[in-house]
Amino acid sequence: MTEYGPGPVDRRLPTDEARQLMTLVRDLAAREIAPRAAAEEAAGHFPRELFTLLSESGLLGLAYAEEFGGGGQPYEVYLQVLEELAAARLTVGLGVSVHTLSCHALAAYGTKEQRAEHLPAMLGGGLLGAYCLSEPVAGSDAASLTTRATRAGGDWVLDGTKAWTTHGGVADFYTVLARTGGAGAHGITAFLVPGDAEGLSAAPPERKMGMKGSPTAQVHFDGVRIGDARRIGEEGQGFAIALAALDSGRLGIAACAVGVAQAALNEALAYMTTRRQFGRPLADFQGLRFMLADMATQLAAGRSLYLTAARLRDEGRPFTKEAAMAKLFCTDMAMRVTTDAVQLLGGYGYTADFPAERYMREAKALQIVEGTNQIQRMVIARQLTGPEGR
Ligand SMILES: Cc1cc2nc3c(=O)[nH]c(=O)nc-3n(C[C@H](O)[C@H](O)[C@H](O)COP(=O)(O)OP(=O)(O)OC[C@H]3O[C@@H](n4cnc5c(N)ncnc54)[C@H](O)[C@@H]3O)c2cc1C
Repeated sequence: MTEYGPGPVDRRLPTDEARQLMTLVRDLAAREIAPRAAAEEAAGHFPRELFTLLSESGLLGLAYAEEFGGGGQPYEVYLQVLEELAAARLTVGLGVSVHTLSCHALAAYGTKEQRAEHLPAMLGGGLLGAYCLSEPVAGSDAASLTTRATRAGGDWVLDGTKAWTTHGGVADFYTVLARTGGAGAHGITAFLVPGDAEGLSAAPPERKMGMKGSPTAQVHFDGVRIGDARRIGEEGQGFAIALAALDSGRLGIAACAVGVAQAALNEALAYMTTRRQFGRPLADFQGLRFMLADMATQLAAGRSLYLTAARLRDEGRPFTKEAAMAKLFCTDMAMRVTTDAVQLLGGYGYTADFPAERYMREAKALQIVEGTNQIQRMVIARQLTGPEGR
Protein backbone atom coordinates (compact mmCIF):
# COMPACT_ATOMS: atom_id res chain seq x y z
CA MET A 1 0.00 0.00 0.00
CA THR A 2 1.34 3.46 -0.87
CA GLU A 3 1.66 6.15 1.72
CA TYR A 4 -0.76 8.35 -0.26
CA GLY A 5 -4.07 7.73 -1.97
CA PRO A 6 -7.33 6.33 -0.68
CA GLY A 7 -6.36 2.87 0.61
CA PRO A 8 -8.70 1.25 3.12
CA VAL A 9 -10.30 3.59 5.64
CA ASP A 10 -8.30 3.51 8.87
CA ARG A 11 -11.01 2.46 11.31
CA ARG A 12 -11.00 2.41 15.08
CA LEU A 13 -12.62 -0.92 15.89
CA PRO A 14 -13.21 -2.04 19.46
CA THR A 15 -12.11 -5.72 19.32
CA ASP A 16 -9.92 -8.16 17.41
CA GLU A 17 -13.12 -9.93 16.39
CA ALA A 18 -14.38 -6.71 14.81
CA ARG A 19 -11.06 -6.20 12.99
CA GLN A 20 -11.24 -9.73 11.56
CA LEU A 21 -14.85 -9.15 10.57
CA MET A 22 -13.85 -5.98 8.72
CA THR A 23 -11.14 -7.85 6.80
CA LEU A 24 -13.71 -10.48 5.77
CA VAL A 25 -16.20 -7.80 4.69
CA ARG A 26 -13.64 -5.88 2.63
CA ASP A 27 -12.56 -9.06 0.89
CA LEU A 28 -16.14 -10.09 0.17
CA ALA A 29 -17.03 -6.60 -1.06
CA ALA A 30 -14.00 -6.45 -3.39
CA ARG A 31 -14.46 -9.97 -4.77
CA GLU A 32 -18.21 -10.49 -4.90
CA ILE A 33 -19.98 -7.13 -4.79
CA ALA A 34 -18.04 -4.28 -6.44
CA PRO A 35 -17.10 -6.01 -9.72
CA ARG A 36 -20.76 -6.60 -10.66
CA ALA A 37 -22.13 -3.29 -9.44
CA ALA A 38 -21.99 -1.10 -12.56
CA ALA A 39 -23.35 -3.66 -15.02
CA GLU A 40 -26.11 -4.91 -12.75
CA GLU A 41 -27.22 -1.44 -11.74
CA ALA A 42 -27.39 -0.45 -15.41
CA ALA A 43 -29.47 -3.56 -16.11
CA GLY A 44 -31.68 -3.10 -13.03
CA HIS A 45 -30.71 -6.54 -11.76
CA PHE A 46 -31.36 -7.37 -8.10
CA PRO A 47 -28.58 -9.63 -6.77
CA ARG A 48 -30.71 -11.90 -4.55
CA GLU A 49 -27.95 -14.52 -4.32
CA LEU A 50 -25.57 -11.96 -2.81
CA PHE A 51 -27.95 -11.61 0.13
CA THR A 52 -27.90 -15.39 0.58
CA LEU A 53 -24.11 -15.19 0.64
CA LEU A 54 -24.25 -12.33 3.17
CA SER A 55 -26.62 -14.35 5.32
CA GLU A 56 -24.31 -17.39 5.19
CA SER A 57 -21.42 -15.10 6.13
CA GLY A 58 -23.30 -13.87 9.20
CA LEU A 59 -23.76 -10.35 7.80
CA LEU A 60 -27.57 -10.14 7.79
CA GLY A 61 -28.01 -10.24 11.55
CA LEU A 62 -24.83 -8.58 12.78
CA ALA A 63 -26.44 -6.13 15.19
CA TYR A 64 -28.74 -8.68 16.87
CA ALA A 65 -28.22 -11.04 19.82
CA GLU A 66 -26.24 -14.23 19.22
CA GLU A 67 -28.92 -16.11 21.18
CA PHE A 68 -31.23 -15.86 18.14
CA GLY A 69 -28.63 -16.32 15.43
CA GLY A 70 -27.39 -12.72 15.26
CA GLY A 71 -23.79 -11.58 15.26
CA GLY A 72 -23.87 -9.85 18.66
CA GLN A 73 -21.89 -6.88 17.32
CA PRO A 74 -22.23 -3.34 18.67
CA TYR A 75 -23.82 -0.79 16.37
CA GLU A 76 -20.51 1.02 15.88
CA VAL A 77 -19.15 -2.14 14.22
CA TYR A 78 -22.30 -3.04 12.29
CA LEU A 79 -22.51 0.46 10.81
CA GLN A 80 -18.90 0.44 9.65
CA VAL A 81 -19.56 -2.91 7.94
CA LEU A 82 -22.59 -1.33 6.29
CA GLU A 83 -20.45 1.59 5.12
CA GLU A 84 -18.02 -0.81 3.41
CA LEU A 85 -20.88 -2.70 1.72
CA ALA A 86 -22.49 0.55 0.52
CA ALA A 87 -19.17 1.79 -0.84
CA ALA A 88 -19.03 -1.37 -2.96
CA ARG A 89 -22.68 -1.09 -4.02
CA LEU A 90 -25.49 0.90 -2.43
CA THR A 91 -28.17 -1.62 -3.43
CA VAL A 92 -26.39 -4.13 -1.17
CA GLY A 93 -25.60 -1.75 1.72
CA LEU A 94 -29.10 -0.28 1.76
CA GLY A 95 -30.57 -3.77 1.36
CA VAL A 96 -28.76 -4.96 4.49
CA SER A 97 -29.88 -1.82 6.33
CA VAL A 98 -33.53 -2.32 5.34
CA HIS A 99 -33.36 -6.01 6.22
CA THR A 100 -31.95 -5.06 9.65
CA LEU A 101 -34.75 -2.49 10.04
CA SER A 102 -37.38 -5.09 9.18
CA CYS A 103 -36.07 -7.44 11.90
CA HIS A 104 -36.13 -4.73 14.59
CA ALA A 105 -39.81 -4.92 15.53
CA LEU A 106 -39.75 -8.64 16.28
CA ALA A 107 -36.31 -8.60 17.91
CA ALA A 108 -37.16 -5.70 20.23
CA TYR A 109 -40.91 -6.17 20.85
CA GLY A 110 -41.68 -9.82 20.02
CA THR A 111 -42.49 -12.34 22.74
CA LYS A 112 -39.90 -14.97 23.67
CA GLU A 113 -41.88 -17.54 21.66
CA GLN A 114 -42.13 -15.30 18.59
CA ARG A 115 -38.42 -14.55 18.67
CA ALA A 116 -37.49 -18.22 19.08
CA GLU A 117 -39.79 -19.20 16.21
CA HIS A 118 -38.89 -16.57 13.61
CA LEU A 119 -35.64 -14.77 14.38
CA PRO A 120 -33.05 -17.46 13.57
CA ALA A 121 -34.33 -17.74 9.99
CA MET A 122 -34.60 -13.95 9.67
CA LEU A 123 -31.14 -13.21 11.04
CA GLY A 124 -29.08 -15.98 9.54
CA GLY A 125 -31.29 -18.45 7.71
CA GLY A 126 -31.14 -16.86 4.28
CA LEU A 127 -34.42 -14.94 4.50
CA LEU A 128 -34.71 -11.35 3.29
CA GLY A 129 -37.01 -8.78 4.90
CA ALA A 130 -38.95 -5.66 3.95
CA TYR A 131 -40.47 -2.85 5.99
CA CYS A 132 -43.93 -1.55 5.06
CA LEU A 133 -44.76 1.80 6.62
CA SER A 134 -45.22 4.28 3.73
CA GLU A 135 -48.39 4.36 1.65
CA PRO A 136 -49.34 6.20 -1.54
CA VAL A 137 -51.02 9.03 0.40
CA ALA A 138 -49.25 8.61 3.75
CA GLY A 139 -45.55 9.47 3.33
CA SER A 140 -43.97 11.91 5.76
CA ASP A 141 -47.28 11.85 7.66
CA ALA A 142 -46.97 8.10 8.16
CA ALA A 143 -49.37 8.11 11.13
CA SER A 144 -52.22 8.76 8.67
CA LEU A 145 -51.78 5.32 7.06
CA THR A 146 -54.97 3.49 6.05
CA THR A 147 -53.97 -0.15 5.46
CA ARG A 148 -56.34 -1.94 7.79
CA ALA A 149 -56.03 -5.08 9.88
CA THR A 150 -59.40 -6.43 11.04
CA ARG A 151 -59.94 -9.16 13.60
CA ALA A 152 -61.48 -12.35 12.20
CA GLY A 153 -61.87 -14.92 14.98
CA GLY A 154 -58.37 -15.52 16.31
CA ASP A 155 -56.83 -14.16 13.09
CA TRP A 156 -56.26 -10.80 11.42
CA VAL A 157 -57.16 -9.87 7.84
CA LEU A 158 -55.06 -7.17 6.17
CA ASP A 159 -56.33 -4.96 3.35
CA GLY A 160 -54.61 -1.98 1.74
CA THR A 161 -51.61 -0.84 -0.28
CA LYS A 162 -48.12 -0.03 0.91
CA ALA A 163 -45.84 2.17 -1.22
CA TRP A 164 -42.10 2.38 -1.84
CA THR A 165 -41.34 -0.95 -0.24
CA THR A 166 -37.65 -1.78 -0.66
CA HIS A 167 -37.51 -5.52 -1.57
CA GLY A 168 -41.24 -5.37 -2.40
CA GLY A 169 -41.99 -8.55 -4.36
CA VAL A 170 -38.68 -10.27 -3.51
CA ALA A 171 -38.84 -10.31 0.30
CA ASP A 172 -39.49 -13.45 2.33
CA PHE A 173 -41.19 -11.51 5.13
CA TYR A 174 -42.74 -8.07 5.57
CA THR A 175 -42.95 -6.06 8.77
CA VAL A 176 -46.24 -4.24 8.22
CA LEU A 177 -47.80 -1.32 10.08
CA ALA A 178 -51.59 -1.43 9.79
CA ARG A 179 -54.54 0.34 11.35
CA THR A 180 -56.44 -1.70 13.93
CA GLY A 181 -58.07 1.18 15.80
CA GLY A 182 -59.09 4.80 15.30
CA ALA A 183 -57.31 7.62 13.49
CA GLY A 184 -53.79 8.72 14.40
CA ALA A 185 -50.67 7.13 15.76
CA HIS A 186 -52.39 5.17 18.55
CA GLY A 187 -54.57 3.16 16.16
CA ILE A 188 -51.66 1.35 14.50
CA THR A 189 -50.36 -2.18 15.13
CA ALA A 190 -47.31 -4.06 13.80
CA PHE A 191 -47.46 -7.46 12.09
CA LEU A 192 -45.01 -9.94 10.62
CA VAL A 193 -46.39 -11.18 7.29
CA PRO A 194 -44.83 -14.05 5.32
CA GLY A 195 -43.90 -13.19 1.73
CA ASP A 196 -45.93 -16.08 0.34
CA ALA A 197 -49.15 -15.19 2.20
CA GLU A 198 -52.25 -15.58 0.06
CA GLY A 199 -53.53 -12.18 -1.09
CA LEU A 200 -50.12 -10.48 -0.91
CA SER A 201 -48.81 -9.22 -4.25
CA ALA A 202 -46.35 -6.61 -5.50
CA ALA A 203 -46.63 -4.12 -8.35
CA PRO A 204 -43.76 -3.86 -10.86
CA PRO A 205 -40.79 -2.00 -9.33
CA GLU A 206 -40.74 1.82 -9.53
CA ARG A 207 -38.53 3.22 -12.33
CA LYS A 208 -36.07 5.10 -10.13
CA MET A 209 -33.28 7.61 -10.79
CA GLY A 210 -30.71 5.40 -9.09
CA MET A 211 -30.36 2.14 -7.18
CA LYS A 212 -32.09 0.52 -10.09
CA GLY A 213 -30.90 -2.89 -8.87
CA SER A 214 -32.87 -2.45 -5.64
CA PRO A 215 -36.55 -3.23 -6.23
CA THR A 216 -38.85 -0.58 -4.71
CA ALA A 217 -42.50 -1.47 -5.19
CA GLN A 218 -46.03 -1.08 -4.00
CA VAL A 219 -47.24 -4.09 -2.03
CA HIS A 220 -50.94 -4.95 -2.06
CA PHE A 221 -52.70 -6.71 0.80
CA ASP A 222 -55.95 -8.15 -0.44
CA GLY A 223 -57.61 -10.08 2.38
CA VAL A 224 -54.27 -11.38 3.71
CA ARG A 225 -55.09 -13.61 6.69
CA ILE A 226 -52.52 -14.16 9.44
CA GLY A 227 -52.74 -15.55 12.97
CA ASP A 228 -52.66 -13.39 16.07
CA ALA A 229 -49.27 -14.99 16.81
CA ARG A 230 -47.91 -12.73 14.05
CA ARG A 231 -48.97 -9.53 15.79
CA ILE A 232 -45.90 -7.79 17.20
CA GLY A 233 -46.29 -5.89 20.47
CA GLU A 234 -49.60 -4.64 21.80
CA GLU A 235 -52.52 -3.42 19.72
CA GLY A 236 -51.99 0.30 19.17
CA GLN A 237 -48.25 0.11 19.88
CA GLY A 238 -47.28 -0.19 16.21
CA PHE A 239 -46.36 3.42 15.49
CA ALA A 240 -44.06 3.62 18.51
CA ILE A 241 -42.45 0.37 17.31
CA ALA A 242 -42.08 1.81 13.80
CA LEU A 243 -40.42 4.99 15.09
CA ALA A 244 -38.05 3.08 17.37
CA ALA A 245 -36.97 0.95 14.41
CA LEU A 246 -36.42 4.11 12.35
CA ASP A 247 -34.09 5.64 14.96
CA SER A 248 -31.74 2.73 14.36
CA GLY A 249 -32.52 2.49 10.64
CA ARG A 250 -31.53 6.12 10.11
CA LEU A 251 -28.08 5.34 11.41
CA GLY A 252 -27.87 2.67 8.73
CA ILE A 253 -28.78 5.23 6.08
CA ALA A 254 -26.12 7.62 7.45
CA ALA A 255 -23.47 4.89 7.23
CA CYS A 256 -24.56 4.02 3.67
CA ALA A 257 -24.26 7.69 2.70
CA VAL A 258 -20.71 7.85 4.06
CA GLY A 259 -19.88 4.70 2.08
CA VAL A 260 -21.16 6.21 -1.18
CA ALA A 261 -19.30 9.47 -0.50
CA GLN A 262 -16.09 7.57 0.25
CA ALA A 263 -16.40 5.64 -3.02
CA ALA A 264 -16.88 8.93 -4.90
CA LEU A 265 -13.89 10.56 -3.21
CA ASN A 266 -11.72 7.53 -4.01
CA GLU A 267 -12.81 7.70 -7.63
CA ALA A 268 -12.07 11.42 -7.90
CA LEU A 269 -8.71 11.06 -6.22
CA ALA A 270 -7.62 8.23 -8.52
CA TYR A 271 -8.70 10.20 -11.59
CA MET A 272 -6.95 13.38 -10.53
CA THR A 273 -3.61 11.72 -10.11
CA THR A 274 -3.65 10.31 -13.67
CA ARG A 275 -5.53 12.94 -15.70
CA ARG A 276 -3.21 15.73 -16.88
CA GLN A 277 -4.09 19.19 -18.16
CA PHE A 278 -1.76 22.15 -18.77
CA GLY A 279 1.14 19.68 -18.46
CA ARG A 280 0.36 18.70 -14.88
CA PRO A 281 -1.88 16.18 -13.10
CA LEU A 282 -5.21 17.64 -12.01
CA ALA A 283 -4.18 16.86 -8.45
CA ASP A 284 -1.59 19.66 -8.69
CA PHE A 285 -4.14 22.49 -9.06
CA GLN A 286 -4.80 24.23 -5.79
CA GLY A 287 -8.47 24.93 -6.55
CA LEU A 288 -9.05 21.20 -6.99
CA ARG A 289 -6.86 20.26 -4.03
CA PHE A 290 -9.03 22.47 -1.85
CA MET A 291 -12.16 20.74 -3.19
CA LEU A 292 -10.63 17.38 -2.27
CA ALA A 293 -9.71 18.65 1.17
CA ASP A 294 -13.28 19.83 1.76
CA MET A 295 -14.72 16.53 0.53
CA ALA A 296 -12.45 14.50 2.80
CA THR A 297 -13.18 16.75 5.79
CA GLN A 298 -16.96 16.56 5.35
CA LEU A 299 -16.70 12.80 4.99
CA ALA A 300 -14.71 12.44 8.18
CA ALA A 301 -17.20 14.68 10.02
CA GLY A 302 -20.10 12.52 8.80
CA ARG A 303 -18.40 9.33 9.90
CA SER A 304 -17.70 10.81 13.34
CA LEU A 305 -21.32 11.92 13.70
CA TYR A 306 -22.83 8.51 12.95
CA LEU A 307 -20.28 6.79 15.18
CA THR A 308 -21.10 9.15 18.06
CA ALA A 309 -24.79 8.27 17.73
CA ALA A 310 -23.97 4.56 17.42
CA ARG A 311 -21.84 4.63 20.57
CA LEU A 312 -24.69 6.29 22.49
CA ARG A 313 -26.99 3.51 21.30
CA ASP A 314 -24.44 0.87 22.26
CA GLU A 315 -24.30 2.36 25.77
CA GLY A 316 -28.10 2.18 26.05
CA ARG A 317 -28.42 5.98 26.11
CA PRO A 318 -30.97 8.07 24.13
CA PHE A 319 -29.82 8.64 20.54
CA THR A 320 -32.92 9.82 18.63
CA LYS A 321 -31.60 13.36 18.10
CA GLU A 322 -28.10 12.22 17.19
CA ALA A 323 -29.45 9.60 14.76
CA ALA A 324 -31.53 12.25 12.98
CA MET A 325 -28.53 14.60 12.90
CA ALA A 326 -26.34 11.84 11.46
CA LYS A 327 -28.93 10.96 8.79
CA LEU A 328 -29.39 14.63 7.86
CA PHE A 329 -25.71 15.55 7.76
CA CYS A 330 -24.33 12.38 6.16
CA THR A 331 -26.88 12.24 3.34
CA ASP A 332 -26.57 15.96 2.53
CA MET A 333 -22.79 15.52 2.68
CA ALA A 334 -22.97 12.54 0.29
CA MET A 335 -24.98 14.64 -2.16
CA ARG A 336 -22.33 17.39 -2.09
CA VAL A 337 -19.34 15.05 -2.26
CA THR A 338 -20.73 12.94 -5.10
CA THR A 339 -21.68 16.08 -7.06
CA ASP A 340 -18.14 17.41 -6.60
CA ALA A 341 -16.72 14.06 -7.71
CA VAL A 342 -18.64 14.35 -11.00
CA GLN A 343 -17.23 17.87 -11.40
CA LEU A 344 -13.68 16.71 -10.76
CA LEU A 345 -13.95 14.11 -13.53
CA GLY A 346 -15.12 16.78 -15.99
CA GLY A 347 -17.02 15.47 -19.03
CA TYR A 348 -16.10 11.89 -18.18
CA GLY A 349 -17.82 12.32 -14.84
CA TYR A 350 -21.06 12.91 -16.69
CA THR A 351 -20.86 9.57 -18.51
CA ALA A 352 -21.79 6.08 -17.38
CA ASP A 353 -18.22 4.97 -18.22
CA PHE A 354 -17.23 6.09 -14.72
CA PRO A 355 -19.18 5.37 -11.54
CA ALA A 356 -19.24 9.00 -10.32
CA GLU A 357 -22.61 9.80 -11.93
CA ARG A 358 -24.12 6.63 -10.38
CA TYR A 359 -22.92 7.65 -6.93
CA MET A 360 -24.55 11.06 -7.41
CA ARG A 361 -27.88 9.51 -8.42
CA GLU A 362 -27.68 7.09 -5.50
CA ALA A 363 -26.89 9.79 -2.94
CA LYS A 364 -30.13 11.59 -3.85
CA ALA A 365 -32.27 8.67 -2.64
CA LEU A 366 -30.65 8.80 0.77
CA GLN A 367 -31.89 12.35 1.39
CA ILE A 368 -35.44 11.00 0.96
CA VAL A 369 -35.66 7.51 2.51
CA GLU A 370 -36.52 6.74 6.15
CA GLY A 371 -37.80 10.25 6.73
CA THR A 372 -36.80 13.03 4.35
CA ASN A 373 -34.19 15.49 5.55
CA GLN A 374 -36.97 17.99 6.27
CA ILE A 375 -38.46 15.41 8.62
CA GLN A 376 -35.05 14.87 10.27
CA ARG A 377 -34.94 18.60 11.02
CA MET A 378 -38.39 18.32 12.61
CA VAL A 379 -37.17 15.42 14.77
CA ILE A 380 -34.07 17.35 15.84
CA ALA A 381 -36.01 20.54 16.59
CA ARG A 382 -38.56 18.59 18.67
CA GLN A 383 -35.75 17.09 20.70
CA LEU A 384 -34.44 20.61 21.29
CA THR A 385 -37.66 22.47 22.05
CA GLY A 386 -40.34 19.85 22.72
CA PRO A 387 -43.32 19.30 20.38
CA GLU A 388 -44.83 22.17 18.39
CA GLY A 389 -48.02 23.92 19.49
CA ARG A 390 -47.75 23.40 23.25
C1 LIG B 1 -35.72 4.45 -2.94
C2 LIG B 1 -36.76 4.51 -1.85
C3 LIG B 1 -36.89 3.44 -0.98
C4 LIG B 1 -37.85 3.48 0.04
N1 LIG B 1 -38.02 2.39 0.85
C5 LIG B 1 -39.04 2.39 1.77
C6 LIG B 1 -39.31 1.20 2.54
O1 LIG B 1 -38.62 0.19 2.44
N2 LIG B 1 -40.38 1.23 3.40
C7 LIG B 1 -41.16 2.34 3.55
O2 LIG B 1 -42.09 2.28 4.36
N3 LIG B 1 -40.93 3.46 2.82
C8 LIG B 1 -39.89 3.51 1.93
N4 LIG B 1 -39.66 4.64 1.18
C9 LIG B 1 -40.56 5.79 1.31
C10 LIG B 1 -39.92 7.00 1.98
O3 LIG B 1 -39.75 6.77 3.33
C11 LIG B 1 -40.83 8.20 1.64
O4 LIG B 1 -40.64 8.49 0.27
C12 LIG B 1 -40.55 9.40 2.51
O5 LIG B 1 -40.90 9.13 3.84
C13 LIG B 1 -41.29 10.64 2.03
O6 LIG B 1 -42.62 10.40 1.78
P1 LIG B 1 -43.29 10.86 0.38
O7 LIG B 1 -42.42 10.32 -0.70
O8 LIG B 1 -44.70 10.47 0.40
O9 LIG B 1 -43.13 12.43 0.35
P2 LIG B 1 -44.12 13.53 1.01
O10 LIG B 1 -44.37 13.18 2.43
O11 LIG B 1 -45.28 13.75 0.13
O12 LIG B 1 -43.19 14.83 0.98
C14 LIG B 1 -42.98 15.62 -0.17
C15 LIG B 1 -42.01 16.75 0.20
O13 LIG B 1 -42.60 17.56 1.23
C16 LIG B 1 -41.76 17.62 2.38
N5 LIG B 1 -42.58 17.66 3.57
C17 LIG B 1 -43.64 16.86 3.89
N6 LIG B 1 -44.16 17.23 5.07
C18 LIG B 1 -43.43 18.28 5.53
C19 LIG B 1 -43.47 19.13 6.69
N7 LIG B 1 -44.36 18.93 7.67
N8 LIG B 1 -42.55 20.12 6.81
C20 LIG B 1 -41.63 20.30 5.85
N9 LIG B 1 -41.52 19.55 4.72
C21 LIG B 1 -42.41 18.55 4.57
C22 LIG B 1 -40.90 16.35 2.28
O14 LIG B 1 -39.69 16.48 2.99
C23 LIG B 1 -40.70 16.24 0.78
O15 LIG B 1 -39.65 17.09 0.40
C24 LIG B 1 -38.67 4.63 0.17
C25 LIG B 1 -38.51 5.71 -0.71
C26 LIG B 1 -37.58 5.66 -1.70
C27 LIG B 1 -37.44 6.83 -2.66
